Amino acid sequence: MHYPEPLSKLIDSFMKLPGIGPKTAARLAFHVLAMKEDTVLEFAKALVDVKRHIHYCTICGHITDTDPCYICKDERRDRTTICVVQDPKDVIAMERMKEYNGLYHVLHGAISPMEGIGPEDIKIAELLTRLQDETVQEVILATDPNIEGEATAMYISRLLKPTGIKVTRIAHGLPVGGDLEYADEVTLSKALEGRREL
Ligand SMILES: [Zn+2]
Repeated sequence: MHYPEPLSKLIDSFMKLPGIGPKTAARLAFHVLAMKEDTVLEFAKALVDVKRHIHYCTICGHITDTDPCYICKDERRDRTTICVVQDPKDVIAMERMKEYNGLYHVLHGAISPMEGIGPEDIKIAELLTRLQDETVQEVILATDPNIEGEATAMYISRLLKPTGIKVTRIAHGLPVGGDLEYADEVTLSKALEGRREL
């Protein structure tokens, strides 16, 4: 199919998004073409702004436009508990549940020997640093219930054993092999409730 260059460029851009093939990309591009210029400008600005103004919290690693993030800043949150997750999307899923009132630590990945991702490639050292001031009494490991998530939870729990900090793992009401961010609120809340000590 031959498109005028600006249009084919836009189609190529849409195809960089997950789950968007050439057909959908073309449909979206034609939709943009039919949109009002103001709306298109707003859309383009939102794309640029998300990249410019969103960064990672220097304490917990969650996505934020302030530093520290609103969770780390919130005085009402329980500073004795840290929930360790793989991805900022997992924090959002946990927050949606509205039952957890502690802090978070985002690892930005999981240990995966298959993909050559070792402990030093994710934010484990940063977690250890946070635990040094002895405020934290419990670390909840809420990594994904798949091989990488389990390996990461085991690794961290072994690392924390000598510190005497209570280490718990969320229960497996969660679908095995699944992704934490896609768990519904009830399942996630049950998994948190049924966490066991490692
Ligand atoms: Zn934070």
